[in-house]
Amino acid sequence: MSRFLDGRFSHLEAYAPGEQPRDKKYVKLNTNESPYPPSPKVIAAINSAEVADLRLYPDPTAVSLRTAIAGRYGLTPEQVSVGSGSDDLLNFCFMAFCGSGTGAAFPDISYGFYKVYGELYGLDCREIPLREDFTVAPEDCYGLGRTIFIANPNAPTGLALTREQLRGVIEHNRGSVVVVDEAYVDFGAESCAPLVDEYDNLIVTQTFSKSRSLAGARVGFALGSKELIADLELMKFSTNPYSVNRLSLLAGEAAMRDGGYFEKCRAAVIAERERTRSELLARGFEVLPSSANFVFARRDGTPGRELFLALRERGVLVRRWDSPRIADWLRITIGSPEDMDALIAALDDILKGA
Ligand SMILES: *Cc1c(COP(=O)(O)O)cnc(C)c1O
Repeated sequence: MSRFLDGRFSHLEAYAPGEQPRDKKYVKLNTNESPYPPSPKVIAAINSAEVADLRLYPDPTAVSLRTAIAGRYGLTPEQVSVGSGSDDLLNFCFMAFCGSGTGAAFPDISYGFYKVYGELYGLDCREIPLREDFTVAPEDCYGLGRTIFIANPNAPTGLALTREQLRGVIEHNRGSVVVVDEAYVDFGAESCAPLVDEYDNLIVTQTFSKSRSLAGARVGFALGSKELIADLELMKFSTNPYSVNRLSLLAGEAAMRDGGYFEKCRAAVIAERERTRSELLARGFEVLPSSANFVFARRDGTPGRELFLALRERGVLVRRWDSPRIADWLRITIGSPEDMDALIAALDDILKGA
């Protein structure tokens, strides 16, 4: 830290992304990327003419991509904002809808970035404790008088609320914005996108990073009333109107228009998740029922940290947190069938001594 950093940030704890090893020798099940490549249509869209056009700025209104997204969700382009990953849009939600008068609220165990944004903006944040079974109780989110952030499915548990449960949260917070972060929704949860036309206090964020195999392209989007979206666009045009680069705009649009490939990939991930879950259950693990592209699992008598390190030693990277309630749990991304075979073989090797 230099002596010039503003005092507001001297205690800021940044988000710690999962490890991205450069030597690629690991079976990488730690950051919820897709094991499948982007749609062939994405690869075709990034041709050399488009690369040559990188001398030009991208379309700051991102109208083609917004139109493609709007088409899929039955909305108008004015109800869609795009950003450099959904993290960008979540940031804009904190910027636009929280402040000195309006704090934020989110579950105590959830996506770690909410707490970081809260600190970055010096907000009064209220954490909603998960229930004993790790679920978010909708009633605990009623009438909070704050901007509410709910990941659905939640991370790292993979547990989802139904659309009707979230409708209850939105109904009971008509004076506040409710942001539903649907980064994993395509793997089996109900989206709140169909509620966008009904509620002027709802924002839904989604990403191309997980179910559309574009984590490296950084494209995400928000859906909401045209007024809420205008607020997000105000944040975007007051920071970086060109946040989504030309190639990523094209990649996102091609991915959104290739529904067939999307369905194939998500079905493969869901099938592999269920197979992984039964293999883990057969080995004495407790595994939460997941609606995401990962499973959250623990095993009695095998401390999480030991298991994490033993897997790492055997070339399998998973994710784990030190916070007390989940210290024994591992979040395991669903990879290809071969990746998951490698995980199971590593576990068998570890447990044969146990
Ligand atoms: C991965 C993730 C995001 C952000 O993804 P981007 O790559 O920035 O689009 C947002 N929320 C949750 C819960 C996530 O897991």
